[in-house]
Amino acid sequence: MSKALLSLSTNEFIAGIEAVASKFDSASYPQQNLPADDWALLVGSGVLLPALPREYGGRDSHLEMCRVVEAISEWNLPLGVHAAVNTALALRPIVMWAGEQAKQEILPLFSGSDPLLAGFAATEPGCGSAMSGMTTTFEEAGEGYRIRGRKHWQALSQSAHWWVVSAKNDDAGRREYGFFIVKRSEGFRTVERYEPVGLKAVDYGLNDIDAIVPRHRRIGAEKRDLSTMVEILMASRAMMAAMGCGFLRRVSREAHMYAETRTIGRAPLSAIRFARYRLAAIDTSYTICEALNHHLQTRLDLKADMTSAFPAVQAIKTVATERILSAALHYQQLAGGEGYRSGSPTNIAAQAALDARVFPIFDGNNDLLSQQLTEYCLARLSGRTLSGFLAAWPLTAPAVAALRGNLGFLDRPLGQEHQVLAGRAIAYLFAITQVMRWSAETGPDPDRVRTAIAFLKTDITGVATEFDLLASGILDTDDEAGSWSAGDLHSRSIPSPTMT
Ligand SMILES: Cc1cc2nc3c(=O)[nH]c(=O)nc-3n(C[C@H](O)[C@H](O)[C@H](O)COP(=O)(O)OP(=O)(O)OC[C@H]3O[C@@H](n4cnc5c(N)ncnc54)[C@H](O)[C@@H]3O)c2cc1C
Repeated sequence: MSKALLSLSTNEFIAGIEAVASKFDSASYPQQNLPADDWALLVGSGVLLPALPREYGGRDSHLEMCRVVEAISEWNLPLGVHAAVNTALALRPIVMWAGEQAKQEILPLFSGSDPLLAGFAATEPGCGSAMSGMTTTFEEAGEGYRIRGRKHWQALSQSAHWWVVSAKNDDAGRREYGFFIVKRSEGFRTVERYEPVGLKAVDYGLNDIDAIVPRHRRIGAEKRDLSTMVEILMASRAMMAAMGCGFLRRVSREAHMYAETRTIGRAPLSAIRFARYRLAAIDTSYTICEALNHHLQTRLDLKADMTSAFPAVQAIKTVATERILSAALHYQQLAGGEGYRSGSPTNIAAQAALDARVFPIFDGNNDLLSQQLTEYCLARLSGRTLSGFLAAWPLTAPAVAALRGNLGFLDRPLGQEHQVLAGRAIAYLFAITQVMRWSAETGPDPDRVRTAIAFLKTDITGVATEFDLLASGILDTDDEAGSWSAGDLHSRSIPSPTMT
């Protein structure tokens, strides 16, 4: 790795990443697993360096980790995911939580020019959303640990050289979770290849693990509950704002260009008022992700324990990924039949929609994350109603004040279905707050700000309408709906009120 990369200013460094990322323009780059030579180009431009501490040859920068992923996602969203998996999901837990010996062994390998890859293995065929169902085990074995189990859907399944693997041990009659750094050659085997419908740059599969790893490769973040897992996942979830910001800047540009150049009758597509409404929805999604990305860059820190950022990260992940998907679908609709064509010369809408589809599903499905956000707030009511709590909570209070609308629909017994919907409303309030703060701190076009807030207000009204729909008895669960109490907080992975 050229030492020169370490002495560049942030802007010079990011300009270098952008120059290399432009070679991977999704309009022309093949839909294929990223070849090692191409990953070598990106590694050579320094994509991994911000994730690595200086003493291990890195640039050690939270801001640059975000900007690298944003820059790559603008050219090629799957590659943005690829970079985020390596940096935020796999290398970060090693940097944050591993002991000195493990760091010395592994991190310098990633600051060199070898195109090494790292992945994170948590999901199993029998457990994705509820990680307590994990079946992969670890046990003491001689001078180290033996890890056995089966994981699936891991990004970089067949290609990653190093893994952070989660496992459990129930031997002493009580559950313990552990995280281990495993070299592929130690016993990580891909036994089936999965064919995803999008994000083709990344390879996926079903993985059998039977590995013995030395003691120092157990990373020192174990707890008896799943709070460590949640902390580890927070970085990549927060990064969705950076990916969304880069990707939607591109989608907005492409959609406008398409609408100007496509003729419908005698006029351009953009002359149709409803087409302009779709363009406004796309632009708004970009605005919202830009505001969330501002929060990520200026208020969060990927280089520190992120536990206290739990509610912000839940909101960022759910809102950003919802916006990524909805904007991609608006763009595809605007592109008509050509938007359903792989490799169309006029637009990238078909692949954008396929790539975007998984964002609300992976890295914690949005419905679960929304429920957890509500649970987090309910556990902190201290005698207040939920709307009263939100009116006072710094993450939502500015939005509640600006809304001047009635959030009283949240103040009822909340069944599980209501908790998911309420979590969405809370996340939209968080997003409005961030749009307002971003506006105050960076001075964007006031029209963009006004429109983004108007769209988010409508999203909240939509949640209120869904509460009414549920009240009409469509689920026939009124008996269950009234049964929530604080004792039902079953998500063991939510930081308790004493922690934050
Ligand atoms: C492209 C891709 C990349 C991935 N990368 C990785 C990776 O690098 N490493 C890794 O370990 N895993 C990875 N995964 C796995 C991913 O994180 C899981 O697929 C995801 O967490 C969901 O788990 P599941 O598939 O088991 O779905 P399930 O747990 O079966 O859930 C299915 C659905 O049930 C519903 N649901 C679940 N809980 C609730 C709730 N509380 N409220 C309402 N509805 C609910 C949701 O609609 C959810 O989508 C990846 C998956 C994909 C598709």
